Amino acid sequence: MRSQEDRSMIRLPKESKEFLAIYTTAYEDSCIFETFTTTEIDLLKQVVKNQSERLLESNFNFDILDIDSHILEDNRIVKIRKLNRKIGDNLKLLYGYRCQICGQIIGEHYGAHAVEAHHIDYYISSLNNDANNQLIVCPNHHSIIHELNPIFDRKKLTYNYPNGIQEGLLINQHIYMYLNNKLF
Ligand SMILES: [Zn+2]
Ligand SMILES: [Zn+2]
Repeated sequence: MRSQEDRSMIRLPKESKEFLAIYTTAYEDSCIFETFTTTEIDLLKQVVKNQSERLLESNFNFDILDIDSHILEDNRIVKIRKLNRKIGDNLKLLYGYRCQICGQIIGEHYGAHAVEAHHIDYYISSLNNDANNQLIVCPNHHSIIHELNPIFDRKKLTYNYPNGIQEGLLINQHIYMYLNNKLF
């Protein structure tokens, strides 16, 4: 066996460094681990920079490809998209395809589910994949949220709309409250 003294430190070039991302899921005892290189994170930032949040989320929710699809088809981006989709799909299952705000199951009558995963802190700026940053909403609520950009109050778990309307979550099993900077 080699002794401690035989070990030498190797300084890795920036592009070879890896980051471990730990994503929480809908299940308290489960996390998803993923490694990313600096290059992948830089590429991701570059790709999401000029996208609209709604379009990006459509990619996550429905695999709809947009005009930047040639970039999004990059294997590394596909990996990130699949991961995000997996977390969103888990949450949709948890809520039985109900909107967390109004409780409706849109599309069931037609044998389909139209529920969508929304990033509370927009993914284009936060790059936050955590379940705690994702809300399951019906397409109506999703459109309204993106049109009006209501502020989400983490203490009350309530959306505050520009016209003064406050709307809480009818059902919630996975978003934690922040109280005194602690998670609850
Ligand atoms: Zn709704
Ligand atoms: Zn959204």
